[in-house]
Amino acid sequence: MIEAVLTLSGIGLVASLGLGLAARKFAVRRNPLIERVEQILPGANCGACGTAGCSAFAKAVVEGEAPLNACVPGGQEVARLIAELMGAAVPSTESYVAVLLCKGGKGEARSKFEYDGVSDCRAAVLVSGGDKGCAYGCLGLGTCERVCPFGAIHMDEDGLPVIDRETCTGCGVCVKNCPKGVLLLAPREASVHIRCHSHDKGAQVKRVCTVGCIGCGACVRICPYEAITLDDGLAVMDYTRCRQCGLCVDSCPTGNITSLVSQTPKARIDPERCKGHALCEAACPVDAISGEPGKTRLVDEERCIGCRICCSVCPVHAIAMVNPD
Ligand code: SF4
Repeated sequence: MIEAVLTLSGIGLVASLGLGLAARKFAVRRNPLIERVEQILPGANCGACGTAGCSAFAKAVVEGEAPLNACVPGGQEVARLIAELMGAAVPSTESYVAVLLCKGGKGEARSKFEYDGVSDCRAAVLVSGGDKGCAYGCLGLGTCERVCPFGAIHMDEDGLPVIDRETCTGCGVCVKNCPKGVLLLAPREASVHIRCHSHDKGAQVKRVCTVGCIGCGACVRICPYEAITLDDGLAVMDYTRCRQCGLCVDSCPTGNITSLVSQTPKARIDPERCKGHALCEAACPVDAISGEPGKTRLVDEERCIGCRICCSVCPVHAIAMVNPD
């Protein structure tokens, strides 16, 4: 009996020593930088960077297989911290926010039948494309609200998702999961949005929704910057051209175009720095800046659309964007 116990213990001892040595010899060394990069990341595992999650992204960055600024929720700050850690130049990062391209909630859009199935847009769309009369409209079952890793979306009483711009990181998880393709990632600084993506003819749009784009082209004609075009009967915004003057908002007969201009930061001129060059006054697309020759310029905040053009032309950096009081 004692012999058997001793034999087994001996075998166990030799095996564990062998395993210990093998573990040392064949251990895969992890670059400690990977862990440090991972600590900087938000940990949302949203996949917006194109990898399987934050761990995989950290490894890809350190091994030079992913750009330093690919973490969408982390934005510029995370890109800066990673660049600092790796001794690389800080890349610039565009910031995006999710926008709903539909205004047709329960009160505005007709249903074609009563859906009584699983409360998920991805399931509902399998039943004749969903219950909405508009084939392009938001189904309102809140899949986007549930998949958002940052809790930035909630459904309102009209059955439409409301996106909190402050909380939304632009990760795009909602965009990927919306079966109607009714969510878009737009540049964060864009304030004017066309809130429909129906390519139906105007008469059909009117039959099913009171606030859809009917392709009348009024916005196209009034935009001074040629930022809107008609694509197969649908008004489409070119955010690189839009200067956020808001003229299209009032021109739309169905009220489909919305503007956040009243909530956007406004230009404010530091009188200590301003030398009265007036380059800002000449550059402002909405004539929001005025002043006497050679004297400090003043901004009319009611008119200012927050486009930042004045900041970019001021030679003495006297203009900052501030949130409205
Ligand atoms: S936006 Fe898309 S996912 Fe969200 S409620 Fe509408 S149809 Fe569903």
